[in-house]
Amino acid sequence: MQCIQNYINGALIPPIKGNFMPNIDPSTGNIYAQIPDSDEEDVHLAMNAAKKAFPKWQKTTNAYRSALLMRLAALIERDLEKLALAECVDNGKPLALAKQMDIPRAAQNFQFFASAILHTATQAHAMGQIGVNYTLKQPLGVVACISPWNLPLYLFTWKIAPALAAGNCVVAKPSEVTPMTAFLLSQLAIEAGFPPGVLNIVHGTGNKVGTPLCMHEQVKAISFTGGTATGKKVAAAASPLFKKISLELGGKNPAIIFADCDYQKMLETTVRSSFANQGQICLCTSRIFVERSIFERFKIDFVERVKALLVGDPLESESKIGAIVSAQHYEKILDAIQEANEQGATILCGGRSHHPKGRCQAGYFIEPTVIEGLSNESSLNQEEIFGPIVTLIPFDTPYQALQMANDVPYGLAATVWTNALDKVNLLTQGLQTGIVWVNCWLVRDLRTPFGGMKNSGMGREGGWEALDFFSETKNICIQY
Ligand code: NDP
Repeated sequence: MQCIQNYINGALIPPIKGNFMPNIDPSTGNIYAQIPDSDEEDVHLAMNAAKKAFPKWQKTTNAYRSALLMRLAALIERDLEKLALAECVDNGKPLALAKQMDIPRAAQNFQFFASAILHTATQAHAMGQIGVNYTLKQPLGVVACISPWNLPLYLFTWKIAPALAAGNCVVAKPSEVTPMTAFLLSQLAIEAGFPPGVLNIVHGTGNKVGTPLCMHEQVKAISFTGGTATGKKVAAAASPLFKKISLELGGKNPAIIFADCDYQKMLETTVRSSFANQGQICLCTSRIFVERSIFERFKIDFVERVKALLVGDPLESESKIGAIVSAQHYEKILDAIQEANEQGATILCGGRSHHPKGRCQAGYFIEPTVIEGLSNESSLNQEEIFGPIVTLIPFDTPYQALQMANDVPYGLAATVWTNALDKVNLLTQGLQTGIVWVNCWLVRDLRTPFGGMKNSGMGREGGWEALDFFSETKNICIQY
């Protein structure tokens, strides 16, 4: 059985205490690998390695770091098939999705920031005859990157790439639920020729690795993506120590659909935005608000398409819905459906676990579920479920749609479907979300600021925002 190793100081090593925990394939429920159950001692080892590597790494030229990151991106592209298979087995997502989205995007993350640092410039503030100020952007030192299980390599590299590009050394922790591609990445970093200690990856649980990493006095910044409750703990640990923090947290994303939209495009996209990756993308739609005049038509068409999504073995190309990531998350989603039932919801389709024939019979599958009849104030419409469940709610006016869309503690992303400019203006201005997609979903440009409002997070990732986050800004004033 494969044994995952930590990547510390350029070498693949077991955890100091020698403890491992099982890694489960959610599509079968079987243990298929062992993960280091690291702790504070391993974090210290990684921190020391990163601290030792930093003085030399920070002096490297942008061109050097760019070339190294490009080399890593090329190796990810070379190993696309292997990495996609690993992501599929570890996470339960359809292999086709991992091949088409997760792994290519991981390579693009490195390419994007490797290229960005070749085109940076900083400001100067001239003071006439008196003198000049100019701004330096300097690396922070050692930074921590903590990522979740839903898009494992995609989100892990979305943090590591800008941190390294900006000249920092990194200690990173992937989710213990999906550690495999982070392990494969460490092998590729060695092959690419990363200097020891520049990138360190410590595997283990949030409590035993995440907490000591956030509390470590040498960590200058923490880039965290995960649930809102965990984000609060990270903020509580980091704030008294004055660390920079970037928090990308949960969501309860609305889609607002007007009768005047491009109906077919909206329908196809809304099926995808609701159920891609089993609904486990932070940007997935979970509340669908539909103008009353087309509510019944939409309901019939949407449910028909959702019923046609094949749930099954993620290795099979026909499967559109794979397994839920873990037994624990599977139970949480089924409990939420049960609660919705108790609150008088109507389940239009799905609502049950699914047991495909063959090798995946004991896997954690849930039918894509469409629910109506719950108010926007119900727990299902207020709390993040992060699974293949959406609710339908009719609305009568754009103002009512806006009010309901905003009436949640979260504010990550929203999708608006209309061809009327006045409604576009009203909603794009009024929606309390960090991202608004109009007549599309998940169209990404890596230069754009990415992040949420309210309980969906603090700060922005992407483009210059990410490079800024991982840099210290210093003003130099020279008098003539
Ligand atoms: P968690 O918050 O449970 O975990 C995220 C990461 O934090 C994991 O690596 C976890 O480790 C670690 N962790 C857990 N406890 C601590 C702690 N006390 N200190 C430091 N680190 C800790 O999230 P999930 O992995 O369950 O991911 C799903 C969540 O992520 C959803 O809420 C989703 O909305 C959100 N998300 C947000 C995105 C965004 O961009 N806004 C994007 C993608 C997901 P371990 O797993 O080992 O416990």
